[in-house]
Amino acid sequence: MSVKKKTRGQLIVLSGPSGVGKSTVISELLGARRDIYFSVSFTTRPPRVGEEDGVNYNFVTREVFEEMIAGEELLEYAEYVHNYYGTSLKVIREKLDAGIDVLLDIEVQGAAKVRAKCPDAVFIFIVPPSFEELSRRLHRRATDQEEVIQGRLKKAREEYRQIPNYDYLVVNDKVSEAAGEIMAILVAESCRTKNRMNIVEGV
Ligand code: 5GP
Repeated sequence: MSVKKKTRGQLIVLSGPSGVGKSTVISELLGARRDIYFSVSFTTRPPRVGEEDGVNYNFVTREVFEEMIAGEELLEYAEYVHNYYGTSLKVIREKLDAGIDVLLDIEVQGAAKVRAKCPDAVFIFIVPPSFEELSRRLHRRATDQEEVIQGRLKKAREEYRQIPNYDYLVVNDKVSEAAGEIMAILVAESCRTKNRMNIVEGV
């Protein structure tokens, strides 16, 4: 019996508070798992220094974003700190249909919408080793005013309340270990019976 390729890709949803180091963990993960497609979101927030249109985000105006909402072009979207963020439905659907795993880096409101629409997705929340460490990391970035940092910490507390709705909790103490845990989760998910029935069909 030969092992047949799975037919549909796995949708992977990753959330975590600002300052947890999600982007670094994602870079490490994508470096090791080049077969995963990272979904580039649409946002109305202006690009930060070093960010590229079409790479980090698709940067669009509020008007364009609202047209996408009206045209039902988004799998999910949320308003986060006065800006819209959303995931294109078309691209995600094409990749999953082609058997490609897709990774979404989205906040908790968007993740809740995906959970309602795609119950087979795997939901992973990343936390720092402690809340004190999150505060230290946000201060270390030194790019924000104290007031902004306090706002992010308040937001993080709210986001933590959603953790029980996630399937897995990963602690980002060391980046390579956090990425390793996510890879282990993805291996386990791919071994689920429901994801492997095509191997034994027709026996
Ligand atoms: P930032 O502005 O720091 O890049 O992102 C702010 C928050 O928006 C992060 O928590 C990030 O995960 C989330 N985010 C990025 N893209 C999307 C998206 O397409 N949908 C939703 N709901 N959240 C997103």
